[in-house]
Amino acid sequence: MTANEIRDSYKKFFESKQHAIVPSAPMVIKDDPTLMFTNAGMNQWKDIILGTRDPEPRRRADTQKCLRVSGKHNDLEEVGHDTYHHTMFEMLGNWSFGDYFKEGAIDMAWEYLVDVLKLNPEDLYVTVFEGSPEENIPRDDEAAKYWAKHVPEDHIINGNKHDNFWEMGDTGPCGPCSEIHVDSRTPEQKAASGKTGRELVNQDDPQVIEIWNIVFMQFNRKADGSLEPLSMNVIDTGMGFERLVRMMQGKHSNYDTDVFQPIIKAEQQITGLKYFTFEEETENPISKEQDDINVAMRVCADHLRAVSFSIADGQLPSNAKAGYVIRRILRRAVRYAYTFLGQKDGFLHKLVPTLVAEMGDAFPELKAQQQLITKVIKEEEDSFLRTLEKGIGMLNDAMDKLKAEGKAELDGVQAFRLFDTYGFPLDLTELICRENGFTVNEEQFNVEMQKQKERARNAAAVENSDWVELAQGEQQFVGYDYTEYDCHILRYRKVTQKKNEFYELVFDNTPFYGEMGGQVGDCGVICNEAETIDIIDSKRENGQTVHIVKQLPKDPAAQFMACVDTDKRYASAANHTATHLLDYALKQILGDHVEQKGSFVSPDTLRFDFSHFEKVTDEQLREVERMVNDMIRQDIHIDEHRDVPFDEAKKLGAIALFGEKYGDKVRVVRFGPSCEFCGGIHASSTGRIGFFKIISESSVAAGIRRIEAKTGKECEELLYQTEDILKAVKAFFNNAKDLQGVIKKYIEEHDSMKKEIEAFQAQAVERAAKQLVDKAREVNGVKVVTAVLPMNPAAAKDLAFKIRAAVDSSLLCVLGTHDNNKPQLSIMMSDDMVSDHGLNAGQMVREAAKLIQGGGGGQPHFAQAGGKNADGLSAAVDKVLELAKL
Ligand code: ATP
Ligand code: MG
Repeated sequence: MTANEIRDSYKKFFESKQHAIVPSAPMVIKDDPTLMFTNAGMNQWKDIILGTRDPEPRRRADTQKCLRVSGKHNDLEEVGHDTYHHTMFEMLGNWSFGDYFKEGAIDMAWEYLVDVLKLNPEDLYVTVFEGSPEENIPRDDEAAKYWAKHVPEDHIINGNKHDNFWEMGDTGPCGPCSEIHVDSRTPEQKAASGKTGRELVNQDDPQVIEIWNIVFMQFNRKADGSLEPLSMNVIDTGMGFERLVRMMQGKHSNYDTDVFQPIIKAEQQITGLKYFTFEEETENPISKEQDDINVAMRVCADHLRAVSFSIADGQLPSNAKAGYVIRRILRRAVRYAYTFLGQKDGFLHKLVPTLVAEMGDAFPELKAQQQLITKVIKEEEDSFLRTLEKGIGMLNDAMDKLKAEGKAELDGVQAFRLFDTYGFPLDLTELICRENGFTVNEEQFNVEMQKQKERARNAAAVENSDWVELAQGEQQFVGYDYTEYDCHILRYRKVTQKKNEFYELVFDNTPFYGEMGGQVGDCGVICNEAETIDIIDSKRENGQTVHIVKQLPKDPAAQFMACVDTDKRYASAANHTATHLLDYALKQILGDHVEQKGSFVSPDTLRFDFSHFEKVTDEQLREVERMVNDMIRQDIHIDEHRDVPFDEAKKLGAIALFGEKYGDKVRVVRFGPSCEFCGGIHASSTGRIGFFKIISESSVAAGIRRIEAKTGKECEELLYQTEDILKAVKAFFNNAKDLQGVIKKYIEEHDSMKKEIEAFQAQAVERAAKQLVDKAREVNGVKVVTAVLPMNPAAAKDLAFKIRAAVDSSLLCVLGTHDNNKPQLSIMMSDDMVSDHGLNAGQMVREAAKLIQGGGGGQPHFAQAGGKNADGLSAAVDKVLELAKL
């Protein structure tokens, strides 16, 4: 079976078991502060599991793009070195939200693997939670009982808390789990090892690996660590697709399947190197060098997928947060290609066509954005390769120094600096050092690393207390229609972040828009006769608006009126609507390739990032502005459709964004020809925007442009500012009618005067040189020229050189000049003064400059020093003569 057929068979099987087959959520998570990337199939169901979203349909299944490179799940360092962990992989999953539980899940998993896919039951082992006496949780005998229906007792293994008890986080849903492991060893390997598969489960054997984890969520962990039963039992399963494909294709490495082989073939073609598959490796064992090549090819093939899918999902490499994680993955691939595949130029971007050819049908976002993906990867590669060269230069210098000092060990602080600044991981630094006969102090390196981790942890630490429930119920968002509404607090909790304390409130009804989709959250108040509490921000969390307050109401159970700050709200709304119009106008004027890549909307500004491959010209920007302002003057009324099924919305012509998560029902917002999927707050008609003006156009990354713009009142203020500046400038020029002409004339006059002054100065220097040389004293055969005079530093240097040109030998010239009370000392000598008299202008100037409270230096025959004390100039000149000992 091909990978695609296997993926389909999974969906078909669970469809036949009454599961709704749902799409993968984006891999990059945009609206959850606790998680940057989807790392498991259940992430997108968090709100259902937490009880804040309708669980219907209660049976679901999908294949989910996952990335495990940060936080709780970080497999990055394994990837490439082993053959079954990836950064990005697909997780096949099925869920039951309060429907079937342990028995159903176990039966279905078994039926799929053994009856449908015909995996050999002899090779399958399952684990069950052994229990935890200190937490008072018994062994999961229930799961064991259901497994015993299918497998012999010696295929059921007890597992500890680490492997067999799943927790969503420090608090929240958790429960025991059962894993299915496969023994994929060849008969020869089995015979040679003398160990049973059972003995190798969870022992990091590359051929005895976990493929499916079935989680039985049945507890809720509270902030004090205690457990209570969950109100709804949940089944959450996850099976590694690439691992399953490997089993089905009779391979022993994920990289030998049709998921990776096409990419690896392309790598071989480009590099001219060979990759050894598991079979080839077994037949003739490979050298250390060949193993490095193998690892590097796996790293590149894997990372290419992770990086390309992230970019397609809208996450570009950058310096912060999710973008930084992607940058690190990409750089890891560049390093391996550079070190082991001999790729000194960008390499990864050359593999994009193969990836798109293989996966573009299943993932259209790749195909549609191939050009962008290629450009972004290439630019990142080029810039990192430059950094890499610099880092290697720095390491070479460090090693030279060690050699000179007779040392053999690079200190860990330097190794850490290389890691931190140049992205050199310890192993690369060690490799280069080893090749040159040095070692690296690993202990020190680890200490530095630990320090940095702690710094990061302290900066990010957030402490949440348990939710205090005041009333049952689900939240209703009424903000599309109201800015004021009666409400009760359903629940609240205290949050501590960087020593700041605040509270999060959830209301039954709320007109407040929680920050989402680039639009900032509403602020405002809740009030009743007794008190008024400021809402300083609103955020979206697990599908709800959470309101942030500094202090709790005295009576949290009372009824309140929730009132949104409408000035800010209307300004944000106008900016959001203007963003839609801008998007539309850009597509009209620049072309259909324009794709939204990010947006930010606040009361005072709007920012819009989009794909476009060159600078937008001034004329194009004007055209865009004219088109948007035209739509504003047409005062087009909002045409809003709520709760439209996704497919119907597409028929309306709404533009869906890659990397955005849409529910089954969506909201469509249309202003005339502009039609978008959008959950944001908008102006009731375009006229409310007032006016639209682009402030700047710039580049954010390869292939991505950014426009910042302002609307309405902000534009008015901008106009006033510009007007004021213009008025002030006019006043300088006596309110001349032809301001441009007058300024142009001034500039021309200024330029010609400057030239004249320079000519005068040159003449003056010429004259001064002649006079000074004429006045020179002779001391023991040396012509001594000294002077203290007003002159700027450039002219002083010029003068010194003119004097040197006029006297070909035995010259000592010492000039003390001052310019606006700033002293300068210049020493000029003929070459024989240096060679025959052993004088050094640089040394003398440093010594003498102390008298003008300054310092300087230069060459043996010419040196200069600046200072602070002009009164000391004569003494400094004398000091030089004294030092010269003529
Ligand atoms: P492992 O112990 O092999 O790292 P895990 O315990 O981290 O696996 P789970 O978190 O239970 O795995 O994820 C469910 C399934 O997803 C696993 O059974 C496995 O098949 C697959 N999986 C997990 N991590 C990866 C990865 N990095 N690359 C590919 N597949 C993975
Ligand atoms: Mg793992």
